[in-house]
Amino acid sequence: MQVADAVVATSSSLSLTPQHRLAGLREMVGNTPMMVIEYSYRRQRGTVCAKMEHLNLSGSIKDRMALHILECAYADGSLRPGDCIVEATSGNTGIAFAALGTALGHAVTIYMPDWMSRERLDLIRSYGAKVVSVSKEQGGFLGSIDRCRKASADVREVFLPRQFENCANVEAHELGTGPEILAQLRHAGLQMDAFVAGVGTGGTVMGVGRALGAAGLDVRCHPVEPAESPAMSTGHRVGTHRIQGISDEFIPQIVNLDDLDEVIAVNDGDAILMAQKLARQLGLAVGISSGCNFVAAVKAGVGQTSPVLATVFCDDNKKYLSTGLVQDEPVCDGYLAPEIELLDMRVVRRANLYLAN
Ligand code: PMP
Repeated sequence: MQVADAVVATSSSLSLTPQHRLAGLREMVGNTPMMVIEYSYRRQRGTVCAKMEHLNLSGSIKDRMALHILECAYADGSLRPGDCIVEATSGNTGIAFAALGTALGHAVTIYMPDWMSRERLDLIRSYGAKVVSVSKEQGGFLGSIDRCRKASADVREVFLPRQFENCANVEAHELGTGPEILAQLRHAGLQMDAFVAGVGTGGTVMGVGRALGAAGLDVRCHPVEPAESPAMSTGHRVGTHRIQGISDEFIPQIVNLDDLDEVIAVNDGDAILMAQKLARQLGLAVGISSGCNFVAAVKAGVGQTSPVLATVFCDDNKKYLSTGLVQDEPVCDGYLAPEIELLDMRVVRRANLYLAN
């Protein structure tokens, strides 16, 4: 059994305490810079403000929730030194737990659908973590979650982060991403009209939404899904799509659509074209879900004068070099990316640099 092996394989002759290590890792997660990008779409100008999340330790926004879940679990005793961390994920979460778990001296086992990019698999393995691939016939994503639970049911020294149910996932963005966005926009003298984010676990959109509510701001908060697989609009998965990291076959438990504004759908080809445009014209080599978030932001601003839309660029393009992201993508009717002109960009510094002064 993979998990039992992994428990035995735990490396733990690290001399610092987990708390010291967590404090050190904190320095390398969150507090990212923000890009302010001026665009025009059908002669209407607007501003998209995007957090550069590839700058986190393992290269994606998922480091935020992984670190916070580990901090909370150490604090409440549900994670102890020597435990094996076991999670089901479509990629970035696996990479985040593999990196952070290893840094804290834990063995890590990741259950993952077998259709995710080769780079994801290799990256997780590069940290010494185990990957258990789950095929469509074996249940795909839901099968990964199920197998992960069953495999760890009888093993005591196992910690399951359960990213789809764990409130600490939402809290990571409520306490981190959201306040950072608000501080950076304030610093830049911008007033946000809406926040948009593609939903994988929904941690980002729910957490930032809560931070906006707590700040008493009347700002729209839109969850985003692939038009080819509108799970949130329909309640179940209805097709395949190419925006890795979002829309994992079901509506996660931590997502409450009643707390959010309407769902925005983005075509996967449109997301790819937009990510390509951001790389080719601005040098921002983002992943597919970031292209998706940019298109969703522009959609959220349609009909408004000079809208300011906030979002996140969840990761960069390096995990997608074996995918359609680096191939010619045909333009289809209804796509926005071909008509979005990128006019200018500037950087808003990391929030702690001026919050401390
Ligand atoms: N984009 C990418 C590339 C991701 O890996 C994820 C996380 N699965 C998301 C977007 C969605 O983030 P969240 O889980 O917070 O909804």
